[in-house]
Amino acid sequence: MPDGGAGDRRLEVSVDRVKCCGYAVCVGLCPEVFDLDEDGLARVLTTDIPAALEDSVHHAAASCPEAAISVTAAIATPSEEHIIRG
Ligand code: SF4
Repeated sequence: MPDGGAGDRRLEVSVDRVKCCGYAVCVGLCPEVFDLDEDGLARVLTTDIPAALEDSVHHAAASCPEAAISVTAAIATPSEEHIIRG
């Protein structure tokens, strides 16, 4: 689990609610991270993505028919963050 030290890597996941149509493909592929809210649109359940779920998160993002899921990997250093993949 990240502790904020040099070299910690983490995923930042977000859903574009304008693009999301509530097909729930993401929920089916990774229910630990995605759920539908009361409006029937996807939401991200946690900002702390366990390493064991990273592949599922990427798979869900790639499978979204509306390309509504963004996944960014970042490395946190004591003074700054470096985005390494969008
Ligand atoms: S798969 Fe895409 S369109 Fe479907 S609920 Fe998830 S984010 Fe929304």
